[in-house]
Amino acid sequence: MALIQIHEPGKTPTPHEQNETKALGIDLGTTNTVIATAISEDKAKALAISVNALREPSNLLPSVVAYDEKGNPLVGHPATHMLKTRPHAVISSIKRLMGKSAKDISTINNQSQYNLREEDNNLKVEVNGNILTPIEISSHILKEAYTSASSQMVGGLNGDVVITVPAYFDEASRIATKQSAKLAGLNVLRLINEPTAAALAYGLDSKAEGLYLVYDLGGGTFDVSLLYMEKGIFQVKATGGNNTLGGDDFDHALARYFLEERQSQLAEIGKDQENITSDDLKKLLSTTKAIKEYLSDNAQANIKLEFNNNLSKHVITKDKFNEIIAPLVEKTLEICDQVLSDAQVDESAIKEIIFVGGSTRVPLVKEQLSEFFGKAPLSNINPDEVVACGAALQAQALTNGSNNVLMDLIPLSLGLETMGGICEKIVPRNTNIPVTMAQEFTTYEDGQTAMSIHVVQGEREMATQNRSLAQFTLSGIPPMVAGASRIRVTFHIDADGILSVSATESLTGIQAQVEVKPSYGLDEIQMATMLKSSQENAQDDMITRLLAESKVEAMRALLALDKALAEDSQLLTPDELQSLNHLKSTLKDLSENSKDRTEINTAVKSFDDKTKFFAQRRMDKAMHTALEGKKVDDV
Ligand code: ADP
Ligand code: MG
Repeated sequence: MALIQIHEPGKTPTPHEQNETKALGIDLGTTNTVIATAISEDKAKALAISVNALREPSNLLPSVVAYDEKGNPLVGHPATHMLKTRPHAVISSIKRLMGKSAKDISTINNQSQYNLREEDNNLKVEVNGNILTPIEISSHILKEAYTSASSQMVGGLNGDVVITVPAYFDEASRIATKQSAKLAGLNVLRLINEPTAAALAYGLDSKAEGLYLVYDLGGGTFDVSLLYMEKGIFQVKATGGNNTLGGDDFDHALARYFLEERQSQLAEIGKDQENITSDDLKKLLSTTKAIKEYLSDNAQANIKLEFNNNLSKHVITKDKFNEIIAPLVEKTLEICDQVLSDAQVDESAIKEIIFVGGSTRVPLVKEQLSEFFGKAPLSNINPDEVVACGAALQAQALTNGSNNVLMDLIPLSLGLETMGGICEKIVPRNTNIPVTMAQEFTTYEDGQTAMSIHVVQGEREMATQNRSLAQFTLSGIPPMVAGASRIRVTFHIDADGILSVSATESLTGIQAQVEVKPSYGLDEIQMATMLKSSQENAQDDMITRLLAESKVEAMRALLALDKALAEDSQLLTPDELQSLNHLKSTLKDLSENSKDRTEINTAVKSFDDKTKFFAQRRMDKAMHTALEGKKVDDV
């Protein structure tokens, strides 16, 4: 079903507005950045934004930046060249660090690729003596890309863009992406997920409802997304992937092969093994990358490689290359399999497979995938431009005021920590965004004037087992008896997946809120681990939660008795008072130490029974006071 176009007042496209300014779509990739513009309602084209090594215009701008000593950036192919001569001045794959914090320094898979620093609690990168944030570095890429694109646009540009991000990007990474665009002078109309953009480029939003699989094999990352399209709306059903698997690994595998071949050539003629310098290796990798790309269209390559200033001759056939990379391609299939089984979907249920990423040009990838799914993937749109093209179509839809709703799902549940450390889910996993959901809470103690609000993400039953996102306090609640105040906590997730949480006390209207910027990112592997552990621990977690709930019940009963004793202990004989105090300490001990919730529940029940007489006496007293001085007729 096609989308219904809604014109907002003042936004109706009229003929004289045809030449209005254009919004562009940007794929800010780990390896390459691409910019596209819509050329019709359902077609977009990538713009030439760089000049490659052969001095030809190219639509791909390598996401690589070199800095001079003063911090002046040089972006794209010239920076890629400097990788060979001045590697310490060059930074690549900065996307991997977007939204990461200083806390992550040790956890980032640091293959000495980055020179990381912690400064003012922020994660920074050192390049050629300059200390920069990932946001700044990304902004230099965006600025270069946008400036080059604007020189080719006939119509006006006003900086409006749609930028794509991986489906698994968390709030922190999304916010970081938006900030880098702002720093580059761009205005982000919306962030959309890369697989969704690819699906839009293929016009799948106007095709049959059903499941689509987006297979994205780029330079350094592999992402699979399972999308469900219904009534023109996409939902990300499941995601999977590997952050350290991509075309670069093909280059590495091929380089290893040549190195081994070189060593055995030397052994054959009785020569000593050579020492391979890191410069040799870097040069070799850029050569194997070129060979790999050549073999996508040719059956064989004859090359001369340079080791220690000696040239060595090699021949590689496409078949041999396939054999070398087969285990890597196999890995991507295993991940596809995992995503399907996570979503409990059979291969045959997939309507189309969409190819994204330069590495899907490798013929073996296509062959293997076709065999696995029993159908050929869609690949007629250039796989390294398809994401930017989808973003451009979305940018056009947004500026034309057409209500092309793009919907995504939140990957993990969002909730709050409540009494006893229990996690109360407010927005369940897989809810469509944008969304607003609220729940009411109340105070636990008499006279409580503040409430601490702890926002957590994850599926486990106890707050500490989930990921802490933010904590804030709602203060200024008027003192009331426990349970009398009404505090409404609202979770709002915007179309970009950014969460804000607010709490309002309904009597006074006092309010507190936070925009959640989690201090560290979650990648798809961590996310899968979190989901897996929630499934594995589901039963234990439920037991822990029920136990915590029983303890909260016991505490509530104890607090109620405390309050009654403080007000009306004169209604008790000394013996009764002593026995109630004894009851109290027994229940307190039990609730603190017992691991058996049935035992606690039984104790609470018996506590209630044994204190009932006191409650009755207090009620009688209250009635008596109320009736005092009144005639029978008044009652
Ligand atoms: P990213 O999304 O990570 O920015 P891309 O989608 O631009 O990356 O993919 C870059 C990768 O695609 C590189 O590893 C590059 O070598 C590879 N690639 C590009 N063209 C070809 C080709 N013709 N054959 C094989 N691999 C290719
Ligand atoms: Mg990509």
